[in-house]
Amino acid sequence: MKRILLLSSLLSVMTLNYSCTNEAATEATNPLLEEWTTEFGVPPFDKIKAEHFAPAFEAAITEHNAEIEAIVANEAEPTFENTIVALDNSGIKLSETGLIFGMLSSSDLTPEMEKVQDELTPILEEHSNAIMLNDALFQRVKAVYDKRNTLGLDEVQMRLTEKTYNEFVRSGALLQGQAKERLKQINGELAVLTVDFNKNLLADQNAFSLHLEANQVTDLPESVQTQAHEAAVNAGKSGYLFTLDKPSMLPFLTYSSNRDLRRELYNGYLMRGNNDNEYDNKEIAEKMAMLRIEKANLLGFDSYAAYVTDDQMAGTPEAAYELLEEIFYPAVESAKLELEEMNVMFQKDYPGQTFEKSDWWYYAEKVRKDKYQLDEEAVRQYLSLDNVREGMFYLANRLYGITFRPITAPRYHKECTVYQVLDHDQSHLGVLYIDPHPRSEKSGGAWCGNFVEQRYVDGERKAPVVGIVCNFTPPTGDTPSLLSFDEAETMFHEFGHALHCLFADVRYRGLAEVEGDFVELPSQIMENWAFHPEILKVYATHYRTGEVIPDNLIQKIQRASLFNQGFTTTELAAAALIDLDIHTLKQATDIDINAFESYNLAKRGLIEQIAPRYRYTYFAHIFAGGYSSGYYFYLWAEVLDKDAFEAFKSSHDICDTALAHSFRYDLLAQGGQRPGMDMYRTFRGADPDKKPMLRARGLLKEEPVVEEESSEELLETVAELPVMPVEPGMAPKKPAAPLKPTIKK
Ligand SMILES: [Zn+2]
Repeated sequence: MKRILLLSSLLSVMTLNYSCTNEAATEATNPLLEEWTTEFGVPPFDKIKAEHFAPAFEAAITEHNAEIEAIVANEAEPTFENTIVALDNSGIKLSETGLIFGMLSSSDLTPEMEKVQDELTPILEEHSNAIMLNDALFQRVKAVYDKRNTLGLDEVQMRLTEKTYNEFVRSGALLQGQAKERLKQINGELAVLTVDFNKNLLADQNAFSLHLEANQVTDLPESVQTQAHEAAVNAGKSGYLFTLDKPSMLPFLTYSSNRDLRRELYNGYLMRGNNDNEYDNKEIAEKMAMLRIEKANLLGFDSYAAYVTDDQMAGTPEAAYELLEEIFYPAVESAKLELEEMNVMFQKDYPGQTFEKSDWWYYAEKVRKDKYQLDEEAVRQYLSLDNVREGMFYLANRLYGITFRPITAPRYHKECTVYQVLDHDQSHLGVLYIDPHPRSEKSGGAWCGNFVEQRYVDGERKAPVVGIVCNFTPPTGDTPSLLSFDEAETMFHEFGHALHCLFADVRYRGLAEVEGDFVELPSQIMENWAFHPEILKVYATHYRTGEVIPDNLIQKIQRASLFNQGFTTTELAAAALIDLDIHTLKQATDIDINAFESYNLAKRGLIEQIAPRYRYTYFAHIFAGGYSSGYYFYLWAEVLDKDAFEAFKSSHDICDTALAHSFRYDLLAQGGQRPGMDMYRTFRGADPDKKPMLRARGLLKEEPVVEEESSEELLETVAELPVMPVEPGMAPKKPAAPLKPTIKK
């Protein structure tokens, strides 16, 4: 069935206005081209249809071109205002349309949206190229840049000027003739290949499923059976269906005692985009890697990774490698110990056989149960989606005094819930959409983005509209959505990105973005709070009985927190390493991407029982997302987030409002107005220290652990805390401290 938007509202429009449906796309009624009259400026999702995008983009591009022409045609001497600011204010309609399209095409890639995406990608790429390679425009930017020190610019204006100039240079503005033409071609080809990569991945992933009978699922928890049965019913089948979506696959790998089926499912996952069929991604990835080398070389860098890291915190690929290797090698050693432990159990089941990749989850779960008596399914009962969401709202209220009020607003899918976000003084901060469950039109994973970006209009802050999109375990029958440990952590993670967007208070649009290796700091720091006993006690109540998570379960969670870290860290660092490996190649040559991957992993001693978290043929982060040469960003930012959380821990109040105040105003609200490291130092009063991160991953074993409150002590503190308010909108207000904190080193 073709779905574009929230189905129920769309159907009602179609029924009421049956004869008018074909006129919906005419310009006069295109909601993307009109002023929205919706409350809080949310996009009128109930009116936006796939066919509105092409005319909207067309009009927005025309408008943008006229704005650029006006800047170029200005006969006055180039100034900061008439060039840099004018450029910053141009293309607003285009970026507004682009944000909505980007978000919707990731969460609802219907065939109609896919068609629009195919048609528009080259057009948008060409438009962006035309501006970045517009020499007359660049000459005006350069004129301002060259005299920037004489213009009396403040720190933010100076940064905007330098950033604008650098963006032109990084896009090839200094290139001439042939080289410039070739760069345009490369950009165009890369844009198309990116879309193809993603489409293939989605199609290949959807092409695989494991269709089972009742007698093949008896050892799975009831919730997993129900979910698989519902998946089968939705696909018009009987029995039980398992797919390569992680919420479907991981429970099967964890609980099924059928080794052959585990192997079949996991191999399906590992082979995505690598099946020599029409959805194969090998050639696309190889071609992209080669085009990127050529692009980097044209722009004066010896590799694509050098080009990417040049304007990141890391600065060079070597700095990123250094961190990754510091993590990878000890992680592999930890993983070997974990494997040894699991292999004892495995040998009892399969004497003399070799432990395989697809056995890891099943035996890890057995060890977890045996050694730590921790049953993930038991934890799930306390982590309903509603609880976790209220828990993160509670945390944001304690830290920042903000509240979340459920509202009725236009939605693009009926599963979305929408909240107005109120600041500590009850002023409007923004709107948050949460879209939690998998759909076949949705890309895998979890992400957060702006539907409407924060910006300034005539000196007034225009509030953002933000979306969190996930693929969490759906509700089944009368059981609500119960999240796994990882899912609950992911929810807090994406919420951290959402807060970053919601708190944004950035003067110029061109300074909205932070460095890539800084991006995950605001999100990952939230994971530290997610399972802290003090916070857990507030939100984790049993979905049926309402019982607060028992102390002994919290203690088990804490004790098991380092369990399997060798595996998790290894697969993460391995993926980051293969990303850098392919992007530090210096010359475009023919490579076999599978052989290249295996060679580099074997060279570093990755054990055969672990695959990198992503293999090249389904590594969408680097071939279809913004993380090429940047998968290391997560680990880089983890150094920052663990060290930043250390500040809260050592203040003896993990929700210290003075620290939270600084974290918000000195860091989150700034966007990219200052370099990431400068903002970090302002918050922390020091450079980030790697040790808290290495310790948290169990990689600092020989070092005496810094004394911390034991979980028992923490649990005592918890008893005195206020109970979480039932209505998020009713949460007690705790205004953020007005003064900057004194930060202890
Ligand atoms: Zn993230």
